[in-house]
Amino acid sequence: MNIQSKLSVTYILLLIIGIITISAYAILSIRFFLFAAGLDEFKNDMRIVRQAVESSDENTDFFPFITETTDLFEYDLALFDSTGIPIYNTQPEQIFIDSREFLSDLVVDSVRANYEDIYIMNDPEYSRLVAFAKVDDGFPSVSYLRISKDKEEYYEAVDSIRHIIYAGMLFSIAAVMVVSFIFSKYMAAPIKQLNDAALTIADGQTHETLEMDRNDEFGTLASSLNKMAERFKKDNRQLQLLNEKQNQFFADIAHEVRNPLHTISGTIEMLQLENLSQKKKLQYMVTMHNQVERVSRLFNDIKMLQRYDMDQHFIDKEVVELKSFLEKIIITYEPLAQEKNIDLILTVESNMTVHADRDKLDQVMDNLITNALKYTSEGSINVLCEQVEAQIQISIQDTGIGIASEHLDRLFDRFYRTDKARSRDKGGTGLGLAIVRGILRAHGTDILVSSEVGKGSRFYFELPIIS
Ligand code: ADP
Repeated sequence: MNIQSKLSVTYILLLIIGIITISAYAILSIRFFLFAAGLDEFKNDMRIVRQAVESSDENTDFFPFITETTDLFEYDLALFDSTGIPIYNTQPEQIFIDSREFLSDLVVDSVRANYEDIYIMNDPEYSRLVAFAKVDDGFPSVSYLRISKDKEEYYEAVDSIRHIIYAGMLFSIAAVMVVSFIFSKYMAAPIKQLNDAALTIADGQTHETLEMDRNDEFGTLASSLNKMAERFKKDNRQLQLLNEKQNQFFADIAHEVRNPLHTISGTIEMLQLENLSQKKKLQYMVTMHNQVERVSRLFNDIKMLQRYDMDQHFIDKEVVELKSFLEKIIITYEPLAQEKNIDLILTVESNMTVHADRDKLDQVMDNLITNALKYTSEGSINVLCEQVEAQIQISIQDTGIGIASEHLDRLFDRFYRTDKARSRDKGGTGLGLAIVRGILRAHGTDILVSSEVGKGSRFYFELPIIS
């Protein structure tokens, strides 16, 4: 059973139960009201009949007169003497009269006990309404009179009303069926629409938008579905990009490894040549060693990057006093700088302290200073620490070849190089700046660069100062 049928059946059942309950209640209320009104009338009529009996005497044509009176009120009448023996009864003798319509001692007591000496006997188990009254004077030997009537006569009016109610009930049920069918269709339509949309999204078709111009929960659900589809679309695109990046990454690794392997295999072939001088042999060995070192460096860098990618909490921060920290680093690079005739200048004030992972910060400085030395042939390299508001800004500025602006956006991507051949010649893996960015981002900061071709580059980052 689909949702629309379920909704229709539920509405129809509920409304039918409602209509039947209301109709039954209406009929019962009308019956009750009619009977209550009839009871009052019955008592009143008893007074009138008694008055008629009391006002009669031997001279009047008593019995026909009384019969006429009670016929007028459509009651059955009986007159009793003081001992309870019926003197007169309008009911034909062949009709069985219930003992409740006899004048028993109990009834006599009840008549006396009641106001105006009228006792209305409304026995729920008896189908007739019976009233007894004491007759004080009038026709001789009549002491009590009784009138009775079938209770159903009071409900006769209900019968015609009942038909009207039944007709109304049937009409309402028919109307309810039609309305509930239309209503359930109206209710079920958006559910079907939403289901179709959800299936479309599940099918991967996230480009379609669900149009549902409604201000109710269905409208909200539709906009949530649209948001979900939008999110899926975004995630899909990101996954695609990630996939492309990963493919590119593997292609780059293969490419990076292929070159040294070629060189090594070529060198091995050369080493197999006969009559090779000792000097040449040594030269080939050094080449081989350099290439092996390069591959090993490459895999070390890849391993490191992979670790940074997988573990965001690889940073172990401590207080680092920058002056002593940087001085130690600079000392290690001074021989190389002197060899290239480059001034390596450190400007840092004492007591500048930051919170950082000492080893990782060392790696950042190492990569940036190595790069500066690699891509600078003359001039100077300035390592400068200065306070910028609540941060310490560390910058490495060189007077090297500089970087064209079109490269700056992708400079920190893995294996991105402005000049592949030159980088490889200088032993670069193309992963140095990606590692720098990974470390600094784990510190909650980032690496920035400004550069001008032919004039030099400035790489800089900030760390919060510890006062
Ligand atoms: P590599 O191992 O090739 O140096 P990096 O990730 O460290 O890899 O650097 C990526 C590229 O950025 C380099 O190939 C080079 O083209 C450029 N680069 C990095 N530092 C500098 C610099 N100080 N001056 C000029 N170019 C630079």
